[in-house]
Amino acid sequence: MNRTVRLAKRPTGMPGPDTWTIAEEPMPVPGEGELLVEVKAISLDPAMRGWLNEGKSYIPPVGLGEVMRANGAGVVLESRAPGFAPGDTVMGGFGVQRYAVVASRHAEPIDLGVAPFERWLGVLGMPGMTAWFGLFDVGLLRDGETVVVSAAAGAVGGLVVQLARARGCPVVGIAGGEAKCRMVVERFGADACIDYKAGDVRARLAEALPQGIDVYFDNVGGGILEAAMTHLRRRARVVICGAISGYNDVASIRGPRNYLNLLIQRARMEGFVVFDYAPRFAEARAGIAAMLADGRVVAVEDVREGIDRFPETLTELYTGGNMGKLVLRP
Ligand code: NAP
Repeated sequence: MNRTVRLAKRPTGMPGPDTWTIAEEPMPVPGEGELLVEVKAISLDPAMRGWLNEGKSYIPPVGLGEVMRANGAGVVLESRAPGFAPGDTVMGGFGVQRYAVVASRHAEPIDLGVAPFERWLGVLGMPGMTAWFGLFDVGLLRDGETVVVSAAAGAVGGLVVQLARARGCPVVGIAGGEAKCRMVVERFGADACIDYKAGDVRARLAEALPQGIDVYFDNVGGGILEAAMTHLRRRARVVICGAISGYNDVASIRGPRNYLNLLIQRARMEGFVVFDYAPRFAEARAGIAAMLADGRVVAVEDVREGIDRFPETLTELYTGGNMGKLVLRP
């Protein structure tokens, strides 16, 4: 039997148990050109909250009654498509379920000799691509520039810290709590990490970086974005990767009051969606894999067990319960 998590009801605020239906279902059967995949790891991503809202975004919402959308990695059990055979390992949009049927063009081979399932959803997967293209293509990081990144103990932020370090750039992280800040400095190599729960981010940034910020990589929005924007240097770039502080209450999001600092500093602010870089993922993946192999990058994954724990595990992204890339083994 399959086990699935379907969207039962669109949530208001934080998704609760009544947002989902978790049920046993017959095994799906692959048709021509399709694969049956046993899902071994499911990626939990902040964007999932946005996909639950009705209305237009960069992709359509998950429909009521549909299996919750999710990236995953797993093993092919049955193939009705050329180029794939049982036992092959793949990643793709498999959804929150134990077994998935997908068109073979939506499954990408992965090599477990390079990295385990979880890592293909983390530094070698979508968050890794986000860090790479956000920092280098949108942030246009140059040698010697100063980087600040929020949600620095998370999947994207943790890699941004390490990529900036590997480039030899000074980097300061912002994260919630002492344990996370310790990891950002000791494992990811940041010069400093500001615990935003322990005090005034704006003042701490001024202390840590009196010279100002060249690239601010924003994952959280809200007051932290505003604090970072106070310290921009001339021609700084503010990378709008995400705004997780507002995902459960989009209606109350307000922009930074000090946005005229962009004018004063001749700076710019730019958003991006990682999917637009898909034709170049191989380039980023090769770069990150090489850094993993020689130790310039470490991967931190927070792996949980049990598909039935999906509802409460997802909410941890919005309360800071995860350290590194959050993954569920179904
Ligand atoms: P993550 O950082 O591993 O997990 C989310 C973290 O956000 C939490 O651990 C928590 O860390 C922090 N957080 C939650 N609520 C917060 C709040 N109110 N204020 C400050 N921090 C808060 O998640 P991720 O997968 O790496 O994603 C990070 C960001 O990148 C998200 O905004 C996501 O939407 C975005 N993203 C964008 C793209 C794109 O294409 N633009 C692609 C992927 C991800 P603390 O304990 O430190 O608070």
